[in-house]
Amino acid sequence: MPLCSAADVLTACDVLATLSCSEHGIDRRYLTSEHAAANATMAAWLAAAGLRIWQDGAGNQWGRWCPAALQDTDATPRLVIGSHLDSVPDAGRYDGILGVLLGIAALTHFQHQAQYHGHALPFALEVVGFGDEEGVRFGATLLGSHAMAGGWQPDWEALEDEEGVSLGEALQAFGLSGQTATQASLQDAPPLGYLEVHIEQGPVLEAERLALGTVTGIAGARRFTVNFVGQAGHAGTTPMALRQDALCAAAEWALAVEALARDVQAGKRSDMSDHSLVATVGCCELRPGAVNVIPGRAALSLDIRALDDAQRDQALDELLSTAQRIAQRRGISVSHQQTHAADAVACDAQLMQAIDTGIASTGQPAFRLPSGAGHDAMAISHLCPVGMLFVRCEHGISHHPLESVTEGDVARALSALIASIEALAAKHTASAV
Ligand SMILES: [Zn+2]
Repeated sequence: MPLCSAADVLTACDVLATLSCSEHGIDRRYLTSEHAAANATMAAWLAAAGLRIWQDGAGNQWGRWCPAALQDTDATPRLVIGSHLDSVPDAGRYDGILGVLLGIAALTHFQHQAQYHGHALPFALEVVGFGDEEGVRFGATLLGSHAMAGGWQPDWEALEDEEGVSLGEALQAFGLSGQTATQASLQDAPPLGYLEVHIEQGPVLEAERLALGTVTGIAGARRFTVNFVGQAGHAGTTPMALRQDALCAAAEWALAVEALARDVQAGKRSDMSDHSLVATVGCCELRPGAVNVIPGRAALSLDIRALDDAQRDQALDELLSTAQRIAQRRGISVSHQQTHAADAVACDAQLMQAIDTGIASTGQPAFRLPSGAGHDAMAISHLCPVGMLFVRCEHGISHHPLESVTEGDVARALSALIASIEALAAKHTASAV
């Protein structure tokens, strides 16, 4: 069945949703038999449209259409459209998958246009379904897109899944190896650009009553463990004034984290113009953790993200000094360790403009928003310019079986994607003359 319409794309999402290692929901991980089945299914859809198909050395599934007027070689200018085919456990059916399937539908559209109406693009189109974005099986994320961007790290091959199978062994079982994964790099002939359609995974478009948005960039995130250490003591005998309660210090700090991020987002901080800043305390571990004991230790997590790395770091410095001040006032100590750091990625100005044009062509005003979540485009930004189109999802719910999109929004996304590619083609032709 070739994928032509929004209805076809949604039916295909339902088909992929059945490829799961769990009977109770969607769970599709890197280099598993479900991954192989997803690649084979995608290849069948591509083949049905008469498109060229192959799987690269990292297990990413590809399809390609090259206009007859162009010489079909590795050096032919090309635009890549893609996203990921893997999922988190108990996932929804659209995260990643929708972008891959809309890519197939777009290639099918242009191939049909060329075949029957003589409309050819000045570049080839490729679609890629990445094998790993979520990082569920081996803990490291974006393995498929890093491989394409030339960022495969040989030391990843020692990473193990929960059964003790190493990434190197899993590649072998899939008919691949660390060497083939390295060879999946497109550094020698980078594409003109990479376009990714993805559900928003947040509530902004729904609140704006808009189906689509152009992504301005992907926030850079840093994560920390922050340890407050006070003095555990008897809950009945220690007077309030003599306590060194680690939880109370931690709680005060968690509220300070929220207050700073709220002020920045509300535009109340004249020194911080990047209103994309978000900060979250998501974990709290208490010691000893008993009903009749004053907490002696509280370990909190901090996740802080923004489009502007410098402003994120400025906010972070402020929060870490606030933690020191709170601890000092309460006579306890505080320390922190970084557990994750990734820089922000800016989307390409020309690609953003083309996506704006694509959205406007559907009758919806262009609308721009940042992405707080990570995406394959982050890894691909090391290879070529990247652009992203967000599609509204119900209540912003994602990584959950309730993930939902409407056929109307998917139809609009497909039209916008096609019109974005046409806008890029017009620009490409004009600049080549
Ligand atoms: Zn995703």
